[in-house]
Amino acid sequence: MDKFLIDRFGRSFPYLRLSVTDVCNFKCSYCLPDGYKGDAGGFLGVDEIRRLIAGFAELGTRKVRLTGGEPTLRKDFLDIARVVSQTPGIETVAMTTNGYKLPQRAQSFYDAGVNAINISIDGLTPERFELITGKNRFEEVMDGLNLCREIGFAPVKVNAVLLKDLNDSELDAFIQWACGGVNLRFIELMETGENRAYFDKYHLSGDVLVKKLVDSGWSETARDVLGGPARVWKHPNQEGSVGLIAPYSRDFCTTCNRLRVSAKGGLHLCLFGDGGHDLRPLLQLDSDKETLKDTVCELLDLKVAGHGLHDRHTGATPHFASIGG
Ligand code: SAM
Ligand code: SF4
Repeated sequence: MDKFLIDRFGRSFPYLRLSVTDVCNFKCSYCLPDGYKGDAGGFLGVDEIRRLIAGFAELGTRKVRLTGGEPTLRKDFLDIARVVSQTPGIETVAMTTNGYKLPQRAQSFYDAGVNAINISIDGLTPERFELITGKNRFEEVMDGLNLCREIGFAPVKVNAVLLKDLNDSELDAFIQWACGGVNLRFIELMETGENRAYFDKYHLSGDVLVKKLVDSGWSETARDVLGGPARVWKHPNQEGSVGLIAPYSRDFCTTCNRLRVSAKGGLHLCLFGDGGHDLRPLLQLDSDKETLKDTVCELLDLKVAGHGLHDRHTGATPHFASIGG
């Protein structure tokens, strides 16, 4: 490989998170509390995505996550999954979904080449699930999760945002659930351009979770190369795992291993950066691949050491639906 994605701080980037749409049909209180309000169009097409992933794969990308918005709302989602999974060099095609219609669609995602899936479940009762997501679809999402475990996605993970007073009373129940074989991944609530007051009210440090885990015999595991900044705990007598993404913790950014491309082709070097660098003009012809690769490598020089979240600098990200989280 002639060129490789390594930044000024020695970090490498085998992991690309690709948003395929900004559109979402849920109203998660921390993300799109009033629902999606954009113009719902102009997203990268399948050929543009094919060229993008081919270029990144030649720069060392091994894992691509399809996200959004709600990625499964794209009518051509299966075509996208297919072209990404058929790109030489891409070993893992993951997706993150709110679980909408998952029981009907999980098998088709797997057949199209998705081999890892994260399902967002922020509450363990239908009432709490609806309170946080604005949707009465708890059973459907749980059925989808169980089906994904049977189908054989490896891994199946559950994402849950830690929310003070909204779901922290369920932490013990979540951990108990992990004991039964579920791979949980808690995410500390992050501040974005539009959720400042919500963040002040509901942000909860992951320390409370870590204490519970350590007190009940869970041990932190060694970091996996593609795992990036997530910390993961296991219990000697239990099957599942509990992870934590704690962006407010010290040194979080030193293990950053991911780049992001927005649904319209903007390269985001950080979730909390000052905007995207437009790659779309370089995705129109197969023959532009070398220029695309050179451009991405040059842009990577602009990646900074860490986010400014501690100073409440949330960059240009109004909410995660706009960039894929
Ligand atoms: N719609 C899909 C879903 O919800 O799974 C994929 C996109 S969503 C933006 C990706 C992940 O980001 C979800 O697990 C969601 O809970 C998380 N998320 C959204 N806003 C967040 C915030 N402000 N802080 C932390 N996590 C957030
Ligand atoms: Fe939609 Fe996902 Fe944002 Fe919830 S977190 S509103 S499901 S994009």
